[in-house]
This record gives sequence, C-alpha cells and structure tokens, in this order.
Amino acid sequence: MPWIDPNFPKTETPSDLVGRVLGLNPGMMTGPGTNTYLVGRAEPILIDTGAGVPDYVPVFDGYLRSRGWTRPARIVLTHRHRDHLGGVPHLRERFPALRVSKMIFRDEGLPEATEDLREGEQVVGDGVTLVPVHTPGHASDHLCYYLPEERALFSGDLILNGSTSVIPDGDGDLGQYMDSLRRVQRMDIRRIYPAHGPVIEDGPAKIQEYIDHRLLRERQILETLGAGARTIPDVVKIVYAEVPEKLHAMAGQSVHSHLKKLLGEGRVREERQANAPSRWTLS
Ligand SMILES: [Zn+2]
Repeated sequence: MPWIDPNFPKTETPSDLVGRVLGLNPGMMTGPGTNTYLVGRAEPILIDTGAGVPDYVPVFDGYLRSRGWTRPARIVLTHRHRDHLGGVPHLRERFPALRVSKMIFRDEGLPEATEDLREGEQVVGDGVTLVPVHTPGHASDHLCYYLPEERALFSGDLILNGSTSVIPDGDGDLGQYMDSLRRVQRMDIRRIYPAHGPVIEDGPAKIQEYIDHRLLRERQILETLGAGARTIPDVVKIVYAEVPEKLHAMAGQSVHSHLKKLLGEGRVREERQANAPSRWTLS
C-alpha cells in the first residue's frame, strides 16, 4: 500500500468505541493525511483535529450525523504540530465553547484557552477512559492516549503505519524517542491507532519493528563512520543509497538525530567546522 494512499477511506468505524475521520491533508510527512479519532459511545472525545483543511468540518459533521451524534464532548491533542491542532479554530466555529486540552510544554501560539493535560490525569468519556502517556522524542510535548477498555493505544506520531516517525532537529530527541518506544512496549497493548496510516492490529509487533529499525540504522551509521565516512552527507549517501536523492535532506536529519544520541552516549565525537558540515568520528 502506498504511503500517500489516495483511496484511504475518509471515515471509518474501526471499533464500537472508536471512529475515525481523515484530516484530508495528504503529503510526504502525513501520508494519506492526519487521522482524527472519536472515542466513546456518545458525545465522543476527539483526539487531534487535522491541519485545518476547510473540507474537514463537513466530512466530520457527516460522520457525526451518521453515528447519531451531535457534537464532540471535547478535544484532546497528541502534540503541537500543525497537522494535529490546525483544525481547532474551524471546529470551534462549528461547535462553540469546545474545550481543548494538551500537554502544555515549550509551547507558543496555542489555540485560545488551551488547557494543560498531564500524564497522571485521565480523560473520562462515555464508556471510555483515555490515559495520557508522555512520550517525547518526535516532539517534547507528545502524549499518547491509552484506552484500557480496548487495550489500545492512540499513538499520535510516536508510531505511524507506513512510514517512520521524523525526529526533528531542535525539539526532537532520538534517545527520548527510543525510551518512549520501550515504555509503550512494556504496556498491555493489542491494537494501535496511529495518527497517520491504517489501524495496526498487532501493536507489539509494530513497536518491536520500530525499535529494530532504529537500532539497525544506528549500527549502519557506526559502521559507516568506522569505514571512514566523516560528514552527514557522506553517511547519507551510503546508508540511504536506495532512497531517492530528493529525500536525502530528511535522511540527513535522521542521521543527525542518531549522531546526537551517540554523542550524548560518548560513542562518537563531533568536530565542528567553520563553513562546512561537522566531521564525525568514533570515540
Ligand atoms: Zn508530529
């Protein structure tokens, strides 16, 4: 199945407790678009809101009507990235006084009256409980939501289906990301509802796959440095040889996230250059 699948259903009801409406924002980073989930038997809680694509609200409205619902009870967000909270203004126009909550951390320019939501609190809906799990790495404010009634995890951008998660320079942190994966690996999870791509039926297998993938990349990067590569572009050319060149900048970001993690662990050294990329060596 292609990552940007044009036939990905706009709406879907994957279980009795969970409905899904697509954010209609397909792209390299978002795949078929951001999934927004409605959780509960009535007056559902909405997880994420898409990017703010105008067509989203009519599709959302149509789905609510098809379920016999009139409005969402409230909104909870997985993290601050635009493709997750960009839909808040449109939804608040359509449903006045809608509460919005997220973990507020290093945030600027959040929607008005966004409430802070932390791990340790619970979000209770109709026949459902959402348990926030702080899972930084892709973003420092990232929350997954655990649904004990289904032993399911709304994974936000921690785990996607069809691509790997980006660890952005700056706010991203691969070490934290790996810790977050290992943390959810210890939880009792069957199904995963990712923010991008289809439902993951075998949650534990996908989590293991994600961990293995990063460990493989780490080994490849260490081997490449051991063989004499010194700069990120050199490493990318070897480790990402099979990836189209237009994606090499993004691959470079990923290599950088690995090198920063390895630097923190004392396994590599960075030699900064004045007007050239840093030179990296094994410690
Ligand atoms: Zn994101």
